Amino acid sequence: MIENSEFDFENRIVSPEPIRQDAEDEIERSLRPKLLDEYIGQSKVKENMKVYIEAAKKRGEVLDHVLLYGPPGLGKTTLAEIIAHEMGVNCRKTNGSAIQKPGDLAALLTNLQEGDVLFIDEIHRLSKAVEEILYPAMEDYALDIIVGKGPAARSIRLDLNKFTLIGATTIAGQLTKPLRDRFGIEAHLEPYTADELCEIIMRSSVILCVPCDEEGAKELASRSRGTPRIANRFLRRARDYADVIGSGKLTKEMVDIALNRMEVDKLGLDELDRRILRAIIINYSGGPVGLETLAQSLGEDAATIEGVCEPFLMQLGFLNRTKGGRCATELAYRHLGIPKDGQYSF
Ligand code: ADP
Repeated sequence: MIENSEFDFENRIVSPEPIRQDAEDEIERSLRPKLLDEYIGQSKVKENMKVYIEAAKKRGEVLDHVLLYGPPGLGKTTLAEIIAHEMGVNCRKTNGSAIQKPGDLAALLTNLQEGDVLFIDEIHRLSKAVEEILYPAMEDYALDIIVGKGPAARSIRLDLNKFTLIGATTIAGQLTKPLRDRFGIEAHLEPYTADELCEIIMRSSVILCVPCDEEGAKELASRSRGTPRIANRFLRRARDYADVIGSGKLTKEMVDIALNRMEVDKLGLDELDRRILRAIIINYSGGPVGLETLAQSLGEDAATIEGVCEPFLMQLGFLNRTKGGRCATELAYRHLGIPKDGQYSF
């Protein structure tokens, strides 16, 4: 049987969310592109945004509200900051879970200057009451405030400066229809190709003054799960290995040593991904096995397995979600070097 373990989910080296190691804030900030032309990949989104920004500026108008959706670490916050920068306005950033009361949102909105961007990450986390404040704010740049109580209560309309709301979410379908309908621009960010990640890594290596040859960058890129945040993190950690046990330069061999030591394999799977697949294959003969049962056998949280690990395993075609539960595919057996109908010796 695969054994249980205390796995530090929140600080997985392959996490697409920010982890403790990323908290060297200044470095993180220095790696963020400031202009659309420096934003690598996402060409369709970029070309469209260029037109919308240009048009709004030409007419002297405020940019329409923008909804960005896509998995974590793909550059939603970066793009929001770039949009504000290109429009020549301030970008105020907050998170849907941080705005608890309608008054919190009202305070944010009344402090915006003409044309400012308000970026709300995880916008699907807004409560219904807060969301309702947003509707007139987005549509008419106005706040409807109720004054008084009971039969004497009346609504007063307060004008706001015109602003652009940029909302970010992982899945657009998580938003309520009335909220989604109020965004004039929608942009879907896709995982990056290995070539695009390679370009991001080469750019970051120049900023951080890390000598990295193209083969080294390619090796980092191919193991970064299509995600710039992971690519930049790998670059910084591989640099540590290169400085301590290598010549300081990131070559293919050096990157290979570093990522193997971090237990990240050729496709970017870490030990937890492999444990999940091994558990399905060895403990449950390849599946199907229910999520809860699988989670219990690994001693991990079901929601985290489902939300954090499974999307990438499914993207690689290693795992299927069926009505009966999770199944490992032939590709997963092959990747782990386990014969489909063989004897296991673990
Ligand atoms: P998200 O908000 O989607 O979680 P971020 O915008 O915080 O992602 O991006 C994570 C990191 O990845 C940023 O710090 C930035 O350095 C890098 N990054 C993201 N997208 C790009 C891109 N298109 N080009 C270059 N670097 C990028």
